[in-house]
Amino acid sequence: MVHRLPPLHTGKPRHEHGVIRPIDGASLPFAVIEGEAPGPCLLVTAGIHGSEYTSIEAALRLSRRPARGLRGSILVLPVINMSALRQRAIYVAPEDGRNLNRMFPGRSDGSFTERLAHWLMTEVYPLADAYLDLHGGDLSEALAPFSLFPRDSEASRELAAVFGLPVAVAAGGEGYTINAASRLGKPSVLAEVGGNGVWAEDGVAQLLAGIDRVLAHLGMIHTRPAPAGPVRVMTMWVPTADEEGLWYPAKRLGEEVQAGETIGEIRTLFGDVIATVAAREAGSVLYTLSSLWVNKGEALLGVGTLLE
Ligand SMILES: [Zn+2]
Repeated sequence: MVHRLPPLHTGKPRHEHGVIRPIDGASLPFAVIEGEAPGPCLLVTAGIHGSEYTSIEAALRLSRRPARGLRGSILVLPVINMSALRQRAIYVAPEDGRNLNRMFPGRSDGSFTERLAHWLMTEVYPLADAYLDLHGGDLSEALAPFSLFPRDSEASRELAAVFGLPVAVAAGGEGYTINAASRLGKPSVLAEVGGNGVWAEDGVAQLLAGIDRVLAHLGMIHTRPAPAGPVRVMTMWVPTADEEGLWYPAKRLGEEVQAGETIGEIRTLFGDVIATVAAREAGSVLYTLSSLWVNKGEALLGVGTLLE
């Protein structure tokens, strides 16, 4: 078992894959696809959340892509957290109960997830010229495809438009993969497709088509992928549960909501309403918690509001 990734540029087209052990307790698959000519490096990660299967399957298929016709290198880490995949974990790493996509930049002397974030930040992200982090709705989330980009990065916004999912969300906040990589100057997009523990060919194809458009945009392939449809740029509001209880959304995925309108309720086991969630502004539902039960502090749904 090796502890470091192999070189991305050797001057010889190749397809190298294996398992690395970058920190104690983590073994994860990697693939390096080095093309026939030198060029940029596209980094693709998935499986930060182990139950987002559409994105994991898309990354695994990408990792088997032939080197033929490629310029530059693709580095794929298709399952960042293997134990989350094995245990069908939701949101967090089984090792320490932390959500890796909130842990950046991480710490070299921290918990398992903090050390994994630190490794990505110091050893992996610096290798990339562009970064795609593939996700989807988790086991307990229904989701309409959208991407997220760090709102202060124009290059990332352009990459999200190229990727071509129908909605691109300008995201703020700290601790996320794409914000961390963007801090290093890497154009970064987080793509969300699929959900509820289901994976299907159309969702996998949607992610692979986006990756092809990015490869063409970076000059790494010369074939012309199918163009994307229109991309609407939005902000997203994510209300969280003030109380634990039973979650009853009042809106379906993709449905329009008006400002002030009730979009869901939390009730006790005996049916009493203990929290009512009203829309902060008009928009449409990008994802919803599909679990009947919600714990205090968990995200209930995402409402996207058009930015332009
Ligand atoms: Zn995720």
